[in-house]
Amino acid sequence: MIAESLPTTPADRLAAAHVAIARAARTAGRDPAGVELVAVSKTHPAEAVRPLLAAGQRSFGENRVHEAAAKWPGLAADFPGVRLHLVGQLQSNKARDAVVLFDVIHSVDRPSLVDALGAAMAATGRRPDCYVQVNIGDEPQKGGVALGDLAALLGRAAALPVAGLMAVPPDGIEPAPFFALLAKLAREHGLAGLSMGMSGDFETAVMLGATCVRVGTALFGARE
Ligand SMILES: *Cc1c(COP(=O)(O)O)cnc(C)c1O
Repeated sequence: MIAESLPTTPADRLAAAHVAIARAARTAGRDPAGVELVAVSKTHPAEAVRPLLAAGQRSFGENRVHEAAAKWPGLAADFPGVRLHLVGQLQSNKARDAVVLFDVIHSVDRPSLVDALGAAMAATGRRPDCYVQVNIGDEPQKGGVALGDLAALLGRAAALPVAGLMAVPPDGIEPAPFFALLAKLAREHGLAGLSMGMSGDFETAVMLGATCVRVGTALFGARE
C-alpha cells in the first residue's frame, strides 16, 4: 500500500510535491510559480540531500545553525544557487552566524532577536529575508510572537527586510482556520509573504495563500 501511495525515490517525491502544489494553486486560482517549496533537510545527512539537488531543488530548510554550518557549505559549492532557510528557533547569540549562513530566516519572534539580527546585518552587510513567526494557536510551548504583540514587533522590525509571516498551527486539529488567520494578519500588515504548510497540510496552505511551504517528511521520509 505504502509502495503504491508514496513515491520511492527522492526525485519522484519531489516531483509529486510539485504536482500537488500546482494542483492546489490552480484550484485556488493562483499561479503555482508563486509558491516556493522549501525542502526541510534537518537531521538528514548530505548524502540524503544530494539526490534532490541533482533533481534541481535549490531551496532547503534547516532548524539548527550548527548542523547547517556543518552540512551546507560543501553541498552549496557543488550545486550553485542554493537558497538556505532557517526554520527553527534562533538564539540571539547565534544571530550573526545565522545571517552569514542563511538566505531566509523564518523564526523572528521577539524584540531581542529583532535587535540582534539588525546588529548582525549591519555588521556583516548581509540581509536575509525575514519572516515574523506568529504563535497562531496561542500555544505556550511553541515559538512565535503572541497575536497581541505582533503589531509592536513588526514596528520594531521596520529596519529588517521583513518578507512576511510564518506559523506552525497546533497539532491534531484542522489547520485551515489558522492558515486563514495568518493570511488575514499578513494582509492587514501589508505583507506579501506567507510561510505556512508542512508535509501533512501544504496543499491546504497553498489554497489559503501560502507563498512558501516547508516540507520535510514527504520528501525525505521520517526523521529519527
Ligand atoms: C521540521 C519542520 C518542518 C517540516 O516538517 P514535516 O512535517 O517533516 O514536513 C516545517 N517547518 C518547521 C518550522 C519545522 O520545524
